[in-house]
Amino acid sequence: MDNNYLADLLYPNITTLPADMEARYPKRQLPEGAKVTRFAPSPTGFLHLGNLYGAFTDERLAHTSGGVFYLRIEDTDAKRTVPGGVELIIKTLAKFGLEFDEGAVIDGDKGAYGPYRQSERAEIYQTYAKQLIREGKAYPCFCTEEEVEAIREKQEALKLTPGYYGEFAVWRDAPIEKIEAKLKEGAPFVLRFRSEGSVENHFKFKDEIKGDINVTENDIDHVILKSDGIPTYHFAHAVDDHLMGTTHVVRDESWLSTLPFHIQLFKALGFKLPKYCHTAQVMKLDNGNKRKISKRKDPEFAATFYHEQGYPAAVTREYLITLLNSNFEEWRLANPTAPLDDFKFTTKKMAVSGSLFDMDKLNDISKNVISRMTADEVYDGVLAWTKDFDPNFAEKLAADPGKAKAVFAIGRGGKKPRKDIARWGEVKAYMSFFYDEYFTVEGSFGDFVADDVRAALNGFLETFDIADDSGVWFDKIKAVANKTGFASDMKAYKADPAAFKGSVADISSFIRLAVTGRVNSPDLYSVMQILGADTVIARVKAAIETL
Ligand code: GLU
Repeated sequence: MDNNYLADLLYPNITTLPADMEARYPKRQLPEGAKVTRFAPSPTGFLHLGNLYGAFTDERLAHTSGGVFYLRIEDTDAKRTVPGGVELIIKTLAKFGLEFDEGAVIDGDKGAYGPYRQSERAEIYQTYAKQLIREGKAYPCFCTEEEVEAIREKQEALKLTPGYYGEFAVWRDAPIEKIEAKLKEGAPFVLRFRSEGSVENHFKFKDEIKGDINVTENDIDHVILKSDGIPTYHFAHAVDDHLMGTTHVVRDESWLSTLPFHIQLFKALGFKLPKYCHTAQVMKLDNGNKRKISKRKDPEFAATFYHEQGYPAAVTREYLITLLNSNFEEWRLANPTAPLDDFKFTTKKMAVSGSLFDMDKLNDISKNVISRMTADEVYDGVLAWTKDFDPNFAEKLAADPGKAKAVFAIGRGGKKPRKDIARWGEVKAYMSFFYDEYFTVEGSFGDFVADDVRAALNGFLETFDIADDSGVWFDKIKAVANKTGFASDMKAYKADPAAFKGSVADISSFIRLAVTGRVNSPDLYSVMQILGADTVIARVKAAIETL
């Protein structure tokens, strides 16, 4: 068979050669050890936790080595492509602080290795495909879908491995006349790779995450170009990652089964094999059992969940690194305030299988991270989030930034900062009572007699002065306790509770409930300072009215 003739027959319009492509996309000039990684999603309109897991790995590997992190859109499957899908990917990842150095941008490309949308690279793929035909490494297959299905059914009946190989590869050695006849009819064809592999052969392969794995050679003549000339994932992966200079391919472990084919393809194309990092699936505990996290059952599977709930980018980054590198927590304990970039991220500390997602840990980390922020940082985070998710509250915050910042400053900054906010979505509930419009009473005075509560609240009002410092303020509350039959001294109270109506702690909780509407609140003295005398007095009076 004259392979050059066949190549021209199949792809007459392709006049470029691999050498032209190599010249168009020269090797990257990067410092020694710099890693080039890519995030390569299909624009399906949905990003999930597994995507984030991979994207963070990519980003860290590139950015801790002086390398490049780029975005490639794998849109060769029109059925999986939705309008706005690319924008969603870019915007969602930006909310996690993941910024690409190059690649697809919303309305085009940034960088010298584009186009970064596979749908725009047909000529490039076909150039390499045509070369494979010239070298006898690829051939056309005119099987109809029904014929392929019939092969599969036959293999199933015979309990054989399914696929286009061996005696089932009916077009593998078809004579040129037969091919020409089909082309004349206008019959569609796919291009298949001519595999020289055998399932009898096994070899060792080093995955950067999984370590040494045993691989069986591929013997299937997989499709590399579909009938419309668009490549399959496999072929596009080889061509793109070669031309774009990817050094580390980070992808889900479900791709491991096709790794033997990819190794074959790189070899056949004369490309240097990148390093592979096959990531573990994300699991969660469900009633004590580990199971795969799922789109249907788990809202946290959606990448948008974290922003919608109001987890700051710094938190999700911190949590994902915790999930990704098993030594991160220890490092964090030793370096509580160091920037994340100081941590040496490595594939060596990644889970080999089943990476366990833990919502409680996410919340713990979030509380820690938020507790270390300044009041200004909290204000900025909350304001940005509420603008999207609670515009009414955003207006309140923006109308009086000083007040909101004073609220966020309570219990912040010391050695043991308060850890009561886990996400921006909780902030309104945390501080709503500072705004009359949101103020409601959520609690009761418990079993105390109404007259006693009234006496205590009236006693408070009699001496309350907003100008008092916290010491004087509390002494006055103690004085109210003494006056109303409550213990001002906790020791005395504990020694003989029956001798009192209650303690100064109860008096404080009456005032707290009246002023904040709640049983729990941040430091009451600070709360009053922010609310101001008029509001404090009005609320205490209103509470007395209800008794
Ligand atoms: N488009 C593939 C996916 O979304 C990319 C896998 C890869 O990173 O190679 O699963």
